[in-house]
Amino acid sequence: MARESKSARRTRLAEVLKRLKDAYPAASCSLRYGNPFQLLVSTILSAQCTDERVNKVTPGLFLRYPGPEDFARLTVEEIGKEIYSTGFYNNKARSIRGMSLALLERYGGEVPRTLEELVSLPGVGRKTANVVLGNAFGIPGITVDTHVTRITNLLGLVKTKDAVKIEKELMEIMDREDWTLSAHLFIEHGRAVCIARRPRCSECVLADLCPGAIP
Ligand code: SF4
Repeated sequence: MARESKSARRTRLAEVLKRLKDAYPAASCSLRYGNPFQLLVSTILSAQCTDERVNKVTPGLFLRYPGPEDFARLTVEEIGKEIYSTGFYNNKARSIRGMSLALLERYGGEVPRTLEELVSLPGVGRKTANVVLGNAFGIPGITVDTHVTRITNLLGLVKTKDAVKIEKELMEIMDREDWTLSAHLFIEHGRAVCIARRPRCSECVLADLCPGAIP
């Protein structure tokens, strides 16, 4: 297959997103949160865990510990007990406590609004930072998770598994207004149709646009 120009990829991606918007009109962040700090905690908890499971833990958690000062007062062990059911609870508890302390020490307890500042917080990577920027602050960002990585590669929009490269390459060919929504659309599609190792290509609205389609 001849190499596709960047402008052709941009056009194809626009059509992909248009079809996904039609297929998943309600696509949005499925984590429940009341403010940017709570989204930050929820996103840390969502690593290697379903959003559904996180949403079962967080309402009670945020009722007992609403802000960074509350988590900073707890030990790692105490936080671990609260979030046990989300898995990897020791690492997550360390991240939440460290992140809370850093917010209090460096940002007056407020969640910062830039990628650089967010990724400087313990336990916060680009993926988490982009989730918070896009969903809590309305600042466009492309979140690259396993679904986005898998589907954008299958679609031939990128040819790398490196999340930072994928984010940058997609930014070059995607309208800024779609940056935040795109991850929700790919995640919905990855759960419903383009399922890892058993994609349902015969039912996929993207089949004619997808070089990875299995006939
Ligand atoms: S055609 Fe198949 S591989 Fe391509 S996006 Fe759809 S389900 Fe995934």
